[in-house]
Amino acid sequence: MENISGGFLSKKLLLHICCAPCLMYPYAASAKKFGLVAGYFHNPNIHLYSEYLRRKNTLEEFSAKVNLKVIYDKEYKMEEFIRNVVFREKNRCFYCINSRLEKTAALARSSKFDYFSTTLLYSKHQNHDYIKEAGYNLQERYGVGFYYNDFREGYKEGIRLSQNYGLYRQNYCGCIYSEKERFYSFPNNNKKIKDRYSGRGNVFK
Ligand code: SF4
Repeated sequence: MENISGGFLSKKLLLHICCAPCLMYPYAASAKKFGLVAGYFHNPNIHLYSEYLRRKNTLEEFSAKVNLKVIYDKEYKMEEFIRNVVFREKNRCFYCINSRLEKTAALARSSKFDYFSTTLLYSKHQNHDYIKEAGYNLQERYGVGFYYNDFREGYKEGIRLSQNYGLYRQNYCGCIYSEKERFYSFPNNNKKIKDRYSGRGNVFK
């Protein structure tokens, strides 16, 4: 499978979206290269459900503004996610990344997209090399091109755009374990939690 270096204006891209703030730069960059970009919101790793809904609603509002079609899962399979990482919490991110990418590759193939990719490639907090490797492995398995781009190049631009749109920007990665890691650190945990609910805490993205 060939890699993309220039524009592929006759091609269709299915872009996995972890959240609206992380979408800003990857969408701007991909829309210039592909004839069609559609999003896929598949994130059973986002906990609690109220937080999942908040991120989903933020994406729905943004996608309506820019006329971006997004496919949403009909179910929220938090239990399946937890079952697959419990007792292996330290390695949970490998499952989390790979399972979301695999669903995206499978949907891209069944819906006849030419390429798939993910906004996870924008994050400075994720294991970028692992995402890249997993994407290329899935490309071979599913016969759909993996569009690799180091979206971190547009990190500041993405933040600027998300602020311009007034998007909700979360302050932890997604799973309950990441929420604990973000806020549970003695002796300052009480202050961090207060800041989180008052909106003063540092944003994660
Ligand atoms: S820390 Fe983030 S990437 Fe890792 S398992 Fe949790 S939600 Fe997934």
